[in-house]
Amino acid sequence: MKRLVITIDGPAGAGKTTVSQALAERLNYRYIDTGALYRGVAYEAGSRGITPDDDKGLENLCSTLDLKFVSNKSGLRLFSRDSDITDLIRTPSITMLASAVSARPVVRNYLLGLQRKLGKEKGVIFEGRDMGTVVFPDAEVKFFLDASRKARAIRRYKELKPSNTQTLQEVEKDMDQRDKNDSTRSLAPLKPAPDAILIDSTGLSVDEVVELMLSHIKDI
Ligand code: C5P
Repeated sequence: MKRLVITIDGPAGAGKTTVSQALAERLNYRYIDTGALYRGVAYEAGSRGITPDDDKGLENLCSTLDLKFVSNKSGLRLFSRDSDITDLIRTPSITMLASAVSARPVVRNYLLGLQRKLGKEKGVIFEGRDMGTVVFPDAEVKFFLDASRKARAIRRYKELKPSNTQTLQEVEKDMDQRDKNDSTRSLAPLKPAPDAILIDSTGLSVDEVVELMLSHIKDI
């Protein structure tokens, strides 16, 4: 079968990560979590005290950053230079900071180049917010995965356990704020590409969503 670039976009908690990983396994494709890259920028900015409105600081940071995915015995990990930051980027504060820095053109431009470089080799699934609209407008298959607000909040809440200290209501509030930031920013807002296949995962299992996606992919 022809090796493709597949994009999966959608809001927080729609199930993108789980589905993307499962689909990548079924197709024997690489999987790139672009949200982790935005989180990586946020983590490094936060560590250096660079605020999301400091464009000059973010520009300097991006010019020296070295973010890369490394597959090792612990799975797929995100490294910033020699440090494994995979677990450090999942805190609620980095989650909100990632949403804030992701609205800045200097950060989006930096990651645009990095993501396109990663997409040079086909047979890859890119998960994010603007994969089908901006980064890979020519991708062979584009999905937009969504679910009801309640289902998404519950999924996010379950994903965060056991170290999570937030209540379901707090998770819901952060998610609403992030959805608003991500879909109303002027640059690369979250929205389905005109040619994206829309899937509502509310009430569907991971396997059901993956099967649905595979049924579309086999027609390509
Ligand atoms: O997918 P995840 O929740 O890890 O993404 C964290 C944040 O990174 C999102 O809320 C969004 O602001 C940003 N992001 C983005 N574009 C992408 C992927 C993530 O703006 N392609």
